[in-house]
Amino acid sequence: ALIPQAQAAIYFVAADWAERSLPEYAGPTDYASYRAHGGYSTAAALVNGEMDTEEVLTMMEDSGLRGLGGAGFPAGRKWRIVRGQAAPRLMAVNIDEGEPGTFKDRTYLERDPHRFLEGVLIAAQVVGTEAVYIYLRDEYHGCRALLQAELGKLLADPPCPLPHIELRRGAGAYICGEESAMIESIEGKRGMPRLRPPYIAERGLFGRPTLEHNFETLYWVRDIVERGPQWFAGFGRRGRKGLRSFSVSGRVAQPGVKLAPAGITLRELIDEYCGGMQAGHELYAYLPGGASGGILPARLADLPLDFDTLQPHGCFIGSAAIIVLGHHDRARDAALNVMRFFAHESCGQCTPCRVGTDKAATLMQAPRWDGDLLDDLAQVMQDASICGLGQAAPNPIRCMHQYFAHEVGENAWPGDLPHPRSGPLSKT
Ligand code: SF4
Repeated sequence: ALIPQAQAAIYFVAADWAERSLPEYAGPTDYASYRAHGGYSTAAALVNGEMDTEEVLTMMEDSGLRGLGGAGFPAGRKWRIVRGQAAPRLMAVNIDEGEPGTFKDRTYLERDPHRFLEGVLIAAQVVGTEAVYIYLRDEYHGCRALLQAELGKLLADPPCPLPHIELRRGAGAYICGEESAMIESIEGKRGMPRLRPPYIAERGLFGRPTLEHNFETLYWVRDIVERGPQWFAGFGRRGRKGLRSFSVSGRVAQPGVKLAPAGITLRELIDEYCGGMQAGHELYAYLPGGASGGILPARLADLPLDFDTLQPHGCFIGSAAIIVLGHHDRARDAALNVMRFFAHESCGQCTPCRVGTDKAATLMQAPRWDGDLLDDLAQVMQDASICGLGQAAPNPIRCMHQYFAHEVGENAWPGDLPHPRSGPLSKT
């Protein structure tokens, strides 16, 4: 069954706090339905010169929209930077969504693919990109079929002149969610991050200036243009601006994608949006940013969940994948699981990450952790890895040290153990 656009707009009712969760899935809004309810009129007005691109760019800057794939770079500023580069310019869209615990892009794509595609067209027109490459993870078979079908309808009956659009298929590598690795993959090479500078905005896909965006960032563009930047910027708590789509999983009563104001705390998110904790579980800890964002204890459940707010506590929100642990769970199990994941997904390009993640996963299996050795290893990985995977991989080690030392041995930290320098590190 197809849902009309008016029902898809229930998302915004949710944003007005009359509802606390997305409506039951009733199928995607297809091309005909989207257009029948005013869809693509904004993109067409822009492409046909009835709207000013500079005005739209200013709206994006004023809205405070940030990159929602994890980096949080202001979207409007990125548009202006890329627009200032020499043509031809290109766009790359990241729907790899490989961060463990993240499923928001898929949720929106399955419901309202054309809201995203209209955002693509608006961005392409404002920034002046002549081709768009959409990179979709291979595991999203249903999404690919849907996007192919709806894209076909758009291309067959375009509301306005379109840029060249290609749908590219990833191959299941986590690292291809990193923007430069994704670009390598689109170019047909092995997905390995590039050293920067030069930045993607200057020299990205096929050596051209490239606007790179996550799916959800583009998903909000149409509504910001039509409703005005203050509509988006008007949401938020504790001085933060905008909406965030939290993928909540773990020991909560009602997991799922929760559209909530930026700056909400974990405690508020669980109580107001997730129906509280599961019966028989008390909040013990949480991962605020999937595998990469670290682990925080329950006593820090009142921090604002947003970009820049968790760094002082050694964590970050990334793509807003919130994994909730209860008092029957152990943070050390989560930390070990995460490190094994990084060891598996390291692209292998640089030694601190390739060897460090594997070594750390081995060390973290000890009942009593060697804190000195793990601290050393974490520092090397953070300082000497090329990309964010290796740099963020030590986060679970640091968080265990800071918040959950009781789980890994009471005296496991500096000063209490000999330094086995002939141990695992020296063998690498
Ligand atoms: Fe590859 Fe890891 Fe180095 Fe990143 S840090 S380039 S994932 S080996």
